[in-house]
Amino acid sequence: MPGLARMAEVTRAISDAARRGPAQAKGRWLLHEPWTLVGRGPTVTLKNRVVMPAIPTGLASPGGDGTPAMNEWYRARGVGGVGLVLVEPAHVLRDCTRQQSAPVPGEFKARLVIDAKSGREALRSLADAIRMSGAVAGIALVLPAELDIAVLTQSQIKSWVLSVSIASNICEDAGFEVIELIFSDDGAVHRSLRRNSNRRTDRFGRGETGRFRLARELARGVIAATTCPVIVKFAIDQRRWGGLPAEAATRLAVAFQEDGVAAFEVVGGDRWDDASLLLSCGVGEGPGVSRTSGAIHEVLRVPIIASGRLLSPTGAEEVLRDTNATAVAVGRALIADPSWVAKARAGVEDEIIPCIGCLGCHVATDDGTIGCVVNGDGVEDPGRTVEQTSRPMKIAVLGAGLPGLEFARVASSRGHDVTVIPGNLPLGGVTGLRSSIPGNAEFGRAFLYFGDRLREYGSGLGDDAATDADVVVDARPLPGPKVGWAVGRSVLTASSVLGRDLHQMYGIGRRVAICGPGALAGEVALFLAGWGRRPTVVVPGTAENPFPDAHPMHAQRLVERLAGYKCDVVTDATPVKWTETIERKHKLTVQRSDGTVTVLGPFQTAVEATGWSEPELIRPSDALVNGIRAIVLGDSQNFSTVRTLVHRANQLARNV
Ligand code: SF4
Repeated sequence: MPGLARMAEVTRAISDAARRGPAQAKGRWLLHEPWTLVGRGPTVTLKNRVVMPAIPTGLASPGGDGTPAMNEWYRARGVGGVGLVLVEPAHVLRDCTRQQSAPVPGEFKARLVIDAKSGREALRSLADAIRMSGAVAGIALVLPAELDIAVLTQSQIKSWVLSVSIASNICEDAGFEVIELIFSDDGAVHRSLRRNSNRRTDRFGRGETGRFRLARELARGVIAATTCPVIVKFAIDQRRWGGLPAEAATRLAVAFQEDGVAAFEVVGGDRWDDASLLLSCGVGEGPGVSRTSGAIHEVLRVPIIASGRLLSPTGAEEVLRDTNATAVAVGRALIADPSWVAKARAGVEDEIIPCIGCLGCHVATDDGTIGCVVNGDGVEDPGRTVEQTSRPMKIAVLGAGLPGLEFARVASSRGHDVTVIPGNLPLGGVTGLRSSIPGNAEFGRAFLYFGDRLREYGSGLGDDAATDADVVVDARPLPGPKVGWAVGRSVLTASSVLGRDLHQMYGIGRRVAICGPGALAGEVALFLAGWGRRPTVVVPGTAENPFPDAHPMHAQRLVERLAGYKCDVVTDATPVKWTETIERKHKLTVQRSDGTVTVLGPFQTAVEATGWSEPELIRPSDALVNGIRAIVLGDSQNFSTVRTLVHRANQLARNV
């Protein structure tokens, strides 16, 4: 079926489901049932149990106010069916909030700030945009993480409490109906709750009652200042940022409930003893969420919003059915697809743009804003429909990584005749190779999605570009730089190793040295360990931060998974020479940062895991070559770059 006709069919299914309403949604799903939040004012009714949690977008103005792009970003989630949209963590202390005057690579440009100087009109139009989209408008308030609880005076703490109360009042005036207070994510209040990070000896420390005091005073202040229901977000047993033990968290929740808190958002999915350790970026669906939210629900009367890596509607529904959670917070999945809820309600789950858990969205794009590696729509035009081409052309896409697949998807949906030529990388390109590494299986969800779309839109896979192609799009990674030490018959490259199967592994010895500057080296080691090899990872990074190119959450998982496979990691080691011997007891000479030299080994094989050239080197170009339009797009192993390339692919394909 032509792409646009297929898209129209999906849109029709979504609007039919919206017309039928929750009671008639396909099957009887708890996810689509309404629920209520009770504060001091009127009861707030939410049309379904999906909550968009507060996520930084980088879309605020440099002065910390809302912007039209921010309104549009949240409006799209409301139109996509979310019941409660919680606007991103809004800071309440302007002087302590770091705003970038210009985009800084990897950092979100600007934070929303709520205080007496905030632009009320911008805040009001943000709340209006969400309410008019059909969702309940909520906003999350947070104290800047930079604040140091250890050195604050009691009068400073008093002024924080006042600032948060004033901010909540400003938000209510602007039209927000729900206020959330974030006491998790290793923020200042989170650190004040924990014994290991709160060493105060005054009434805000010294024992559990003291450590809970700041959080309770903040919550009480907001409850007194507004009539909105107040949600508190906190963490139980959260491995990455050190949550509270379950018993302490339960006592805290009971105290909050007595103070008048209307609901809790519970982060509890990062337990390191979960079976989900195998997953790269956090947890699988359900296990952590079930156990932790279930534990505190026994003693609470108010609703609990379960949070923690919920990807699919089916997984979210299971959490609602298997635990006592009242609602679910769906974060990254809603970044990937703003219409996640509407598609679930319409029974077209296969159409959902999948989140693959890569954490590319946790780092800002080069313009300092949010984005997704699988969804190429811009923040300014989420879900913008594409237009049928009036001049269908033959298009060849070289490379089947995410940028190439996104180009092919959009171009073929517009009626072009597109052939994707994967070349010497598998479907998915660089990311496809990485999906074969233990723990990275989620990456494969993207290729299922793109494969389905391309089949529906009539695109094909080919071995060669048709000679009569009108347009050729090169979406392959550039080859990596030559590395001096990597010379010898027993030296392989990472890309030649990943993706091999058992019968292609015979040439790789048991003891393998894998050398590279970052996460790719660790991932290749996991891959080889899964095939019974004994890898040693050799990286120039420090013991504390061996994989600086990976997101901290990924890096930590990688370290744990390598330890689980008993892979050695040699840090502060830059390879300088590979020496082969006739007995296959090869040696790797490395240099330390202090200039000393060490010889490692023996090894049978070395893998050069420098990877592919970095994207800054990929200059987008669009030129006529021998009468054929040639577009260079590129691909990368770095997810924040892939995100930029996917967005670029989307925009180019809309206009080709
Ligand atoms: S960037 Fe990655 S983690 Fe973030 S929403 Fe997209 S697929 Fe999910």
